[in-house]
Amino acid sequence: MIHKGRCLCGRVAYEIHGELTDVLNCHCSMCRKLHASAFRTRAKVATSAWKTVRGEGFIKFYESSPGEHKGFCSECGSSLFTRFDQQPEVLGFPLGTLDTDPGVKPTRHVFVGSKAPWYDIADDLPQYEDMD
Ligand SMILES: [Zn+2]
Ligand SMILES: [Zn+2]
Repeated sequence: MIHKGRCLCGRVAYEIHGELTDVLNCHCSMCRKLHASAFRTRAKVATSAWKTVRGEGFIKFYESSPGEHKGFCSECGSSLFTRFDQQPEVLGFPLGTLDTDPGVKPTRHVFVGSKAPWYDIADDLPQYEDMD
């Protein structure tokens, strides 16, 4: 399955030639700030499955914690993926920029202890205070 997506301005386009695994909603304060939203829905993808098909030069990185690099479009700010120095073979992938249906859905909520007070979780997925 090939998943396709773009950033908000369209300068960066990508394909993922592989599976999206370990899909979850992360409510930690870093994800909330990064996405300016109640939570971040993210999966893991193999680094080898990721193809930037356009706009590689627009991708900039912010080191949010030591060894964890958040890749985003430097023009429009869309969050694209996270690179890990300790685990270079996988990327963290927030699903929001996808244009195709990935065929997977979140399986749990993590870092619910840091959840935004203005958002109520309204589904029956398992909730974990921190990672799990
Ligand atoms: Zn962009
Ligand atoms: Zn998080």
